[in-house]
Amino acid sequence: MSKVQFQKSKPTSTNRQPEKWFRLFLWFVAVIFASFLIGLGSKLVADLPYISTEYVQIADFVADRPSYDKLQDDLKVAERQEQDITHEWEQKNHELSEQRTFNQNARETFDNWLATRSVTEQSDQNPEVIKRTKELDELKQKEQTLQNELSAIDKRQLDRRQAVENIRTKIDDMEEMARTDYDKYLKKQELQVFIYRLLITLPLLILAWYLFRRYRHSNAWPFVWGFVFFAVFVFFVELVPYLPNYGGYVRYAVGILMTVLIGRYGIIAMNTYLQKKREEEALSTTERQSQMNYDQAQSKIAKSICPSCERGLDFNNPDLDFCPHCGIHLFEYCTNCTTRKSTFNHYCFKCGESGTDSLG
Ligand SMILES: [Zn+2]
Ligand SMILES: [Zn+2]
Repeated sequence: MSKVQFQKSKPTSTNRQPEKWFRLFLWFVAVIFASFLIGLGSKLVADLPYISTEYVQIADFVADRPSYDKLQDDLKVAERQEQDITHEWEQKNHELSEQRTFNQNARETFDNWLATRSVTEQSDQNPEVIKRTKELDELKQKEQTLQNELSAIDKRQLDRRQAVENIRTKIDDMEEMARTDYDKYLKKQELQVFIYRLLITLPLLILAWYLFRRYRHSNAWPFVWGFVFFAVFVFFVELVPYLPNYGGYVRYAVGILMTVLIGRYGIIAMNTYLQKKREEEALSTTERQSQMNYDQAQSKIAKSICPSCERGLDFNNPDLDFCPHCGIHLFEYCTNCTTRKSTFNHYCFKCGESGTDSLG
């Protein structure tokens, strides 16, 4: 056979290079557009007046507010007193331990002094010994006094501590009774904030969905995608964190609903795709080839998939002339120079002869 050449499936530049750059630039425009929309949106949400912004505490739900406030004041006073007593106790304790060390040293000095005396000089009747023993007793007495004072402080501290505990128990009881109303209020407020945010974001989401369905393939696609990015951001940042949490029910219910919707969209898209492919395969191969987009066909070949049925093919096989799955004609021989060339090329790459050229 003469020179039967095999055209390698090198990714020949399918899309024109400038077209790629334009496309990238337009995606960039979409992202910039989305970021400005996000900025404007958060500014608007931040400036909107809220239903209730005032800070509500559990104290606002206590039945007897004046006594509750009085108890709070009492608690503060009692706590301060307890703190003062603690300081006093620390001071006294320090004094006592210093006195103890001093006494111990004095006792050791006395014992050493006594040991150096002769037996007669050690006698209890010796005036020097009597004097020194008396001094030691006085020191011991001083230590005892400090010890007693410390015990008195201990007692006062215990009293204060109990007083604080009593007041705290009373406050806790009052708060416990107010808890139900308080929780009810918080839940209501949570729901109000959520509904308010939903009213702002829902129209945006619906509009984004509509634009996505209808205009994502139009010339304005960068703006459509920019708006879709914005809506997705709004949904996840401005709405989802404010979903009221009734023990997780609402959150999980919304999650399930969203998954079902997205899953349903996926199933419909898949079925539509398969249906389209089945209809295409019912057409003759020449009809199919004439309907195909030149650039799309080239990029599919570059990815080693059949341009018609989109199943994987080995384009390195020099015998591959037809798709074994859908029968489309893939390679032919130039009528001028007999070079093996793709039927999806407009011209023979060897001699420049115009080919079957059936692509649009
Ligand atoms: Zn095929
Ligand atoms: Zn040729």
